[in-house]
Amino acid sequence: MRLVVSVLLLVALAACGEPPANESTAPESGQARVVVYTSRQPYLIEPLFERYTAKTGVSVDFTSDNEASLIERLAAEGSRTQADLFMTVDAGNLWHAAERGLLQPAASDRLKQRIPATLADTDDQWYGLSVRARTIVFHPDRVDPGELSSYEDLADERWSGRLCLRTSRKVYNQSLVALLIEHHGEERAEEIVRGWVANLATNPYSSDTQTIEAVAAGQCDVAIVNSYYLGRLLAEGPDYPVELFWANQDTSGVHVNISGAGITRHAPRPDQARALLEWLASEEAQGEFAERNLEFPANPDIEPQGVVAAWGDYRADDTPLTVAGERQAQAVRLMDRAGYR
Ligand code: FE
Repeated sequence: MRLVVSVLLLVALAACGEPPANESTAPESGQARVVVYTSRQPYLIEPLFERYTAKTGVSVDFTSDNEASLIERLAAEGSRTQADLFMTVDAGNLWHAAERGLLQPAASDRLKQRIPATLADTDDQWYGLSVRARTIVFHPDRVDPGELSSYEDLADERWSGRLCLRTSRKVYNQSLVALLIEHHGEERAEEIVRGWVANLATNPYSSDTQTIEAVAAGQCDVAIVNSYYLGRLLAEGPDYPVELFWANQDTSGVHVNISGAGITRHAPRPDQARALLEWLASEEAQGEFAERNLEFPANPDIEPQGVVAAWGDYRADDTPLTVAGERQAQAVRLMDRAGYR
């Protein structure tokens, strides 16, 4: 039944020229429900939603699409929206949704107890649910980890022709550069980014996975990527020839970002949305929420597992992630000036 409904919706959406989306089934009439718009891949979240339904009897209906389409859809639907919760990755995206007036504060003691303040919006409009580190990876045959230290150091000419990066169009890099601006000011941050561009071995890649594969293949020696992409490659083959290095442990701490969620401004069921958000932040859900995508739990009471735990403890940059949003436009302009494509 689920498949049939999804296929019909896809056909209907395709007919309207809408971008492809995954829609989950509508609930049986009378059943309590909560509706989620999410850019996360269904396999990462659907098992958790099913557990929530089994526990509470509340059906979780979700629509998945890319974050830009979902943000536009929320804006277009306004007070007619059926969405209660907006779930996506990167504080930059959540900040953008809040800026557009599409979210509302979720003042919840439970959320505040479970999620560190630096991983949440200062106005409670969104909360991090998992943590990803954007850090340095290297080829152990060509780099001694003793040579590595920081993002800033990768601008040094020692790394000339040895660095690979993903495109500056990805929000992950915009957030990283936003934090560099916060720490060093715009002038110094631009110098660093210019240094990276000068050190590039190849044009920037369109994905983190391609970037890591370029290190493995010998096109470059070091790269900056999100930890879970390396985690996936290591899960497929533990001998994968790329290793992780925790950047900036003696200075700012490694740049972390989040996946997270916020209650929509016009949520028809804001109480259901808050209850689901609180559950996703709870001990019961946090381990699985992080583990499915090889991320770190946002709730510090929960220990990471598997390949992620093997990377050991790290010190994270504890600058509030709202900065990633506030300085995003500045970061985009800076990368453009520095010739980072
Ligand atoms: Fe990603």
